[in-house]
Amino acid sequence: MFSVADIKQLFRGYIGINEPLAKYTSMRVGGPADYYLEPADKFDLVEIIKYFRKQNFSYMMLGRGSNLLISDEGVRGAVINLEAGLSNVTMEGDLVVAESGVHLTKFVDFCIHNGLAGVEMLAGIPGSVGGAVIMNAGAHGGEISDHLVEVEVFRGNDIIKVKKEQAGFAYRTSGFMGDVVLSASFRLPTGNKEELLNRRRELILKRNISQPLNLPNSGSMFKNPPGTFAAKLIEQAGLKGKRVGNAQISEKHANFMVNLGDAKASDIITLINLVRRTVHQNTGMLLELEVKLIGFSDKVKREVAA
Ligand SMILES: Cc1cc2nc3c(=O)[nH]c(=O)nc-3n(C[C@H](O)[C@H](O)[C@H](O)COP(=O)(O)OP(=O)(O)OC[C@H]3O[C@@H](n4cnc5c(N)ncnc54)[C@H](O)[C@@H]3O)c2cc1C
Repeated sequence: MFSVADIKQLFRGYIGINEPLAKYTSMRVGGPADYYLEPADKFDLVEIIKYFRKQNFSYMMLGRGSNLLISDEGVRGAVINLEAGLSNVTMEGDLVVAESGVHLTKFVDFCIHNGLAGVEMLAGIPGSVGGAVIMNAGAHGGEISDHLVEVEVFRGNDIIKVKKEQAGFAYRTSGFMGDVVLSASFRLPTGNKEELLNRRRELILKRNISQPLNLPNSGSMFKNPPGTFAAKLIEQAGLKGKRVGNAQISEKHANFMVNLGDAKASDIITLINLVRRTVHQNTGMLLELEVKLIGFSDKVKREVAA
């Protein structure tokens, strides 16, 4: 076991106890974390992880919480948020180097303002660079891994650099599960700044039209099965607008679930199971969750993956 006094000896960042997590997620759902930490920088982060590992104390990384569903009971152990301490994006020679806590919006703006193309399709995705690398986030035919050169991670007991070719990127996944992503480097083609700004504006407008951005949500709940769209299958199953408690399958975009106000994670799980069961009965297809479940029992996790 450890004491907060012990941690304060080696940790320079913020420590919260029994910290409510809902406010750190785009769905605005989820109970408290036993411990919530915001490291001051990369070295602070690495030291605290080494300490937790030595103590056999469980921890998880939180980006901007835009691809997560946290249980009503919250998270036992520590939740580590990198937004405050790992938030730099710089040019190093011809590479753009972004720390994992950098907001994607800031990353995209930085690239465009330096006349660099190839990441503008990420505009409007409300994640962090670390979360986007882990998820291989993408939109409009592009993915964050397209122009990525290497990723700096804390793995085992070392900080190492993993080349893109060794990173195991595929549709909405990567080989970094279990690692801590520290930063990512990109080599981007040059582009016309005005055109890139227009493209960014266009894509954000498109999102405003097609997605329920006026209500808390966690983006696409399910991955698109090969050759079709999860939203189409859910709509065809007649589930658009279906409500359990204050959780609802969005009327605007059937692959989004929205929080109408104080929704419970358990209500969202009920909707997820309903969608998977009904779509399977109708089409024989089993939808796979894109959103990560955090703090749920193995039983719940087995049910939504069965
Ligand atoms: C309105 C809306 C629209 C969206 N549109 C898209 C879209 O078009 N395309 C798309 O791909 N996604 C989309 N998403 C989903 C989401 O924004 C992306 O998956 C995003 O990249 C997640 O980043 P995050 O920082 O929020 O990660 P989080 O949700 O905080 O975390 C996701 C996973 O990554 C892990 N993680 C986060 N940071 C690190 C790190 N530094 N090291 C190790 N593990 C880490 C977490 O533990 C978790 O397992 C959308 C979401 C919303 C709410």
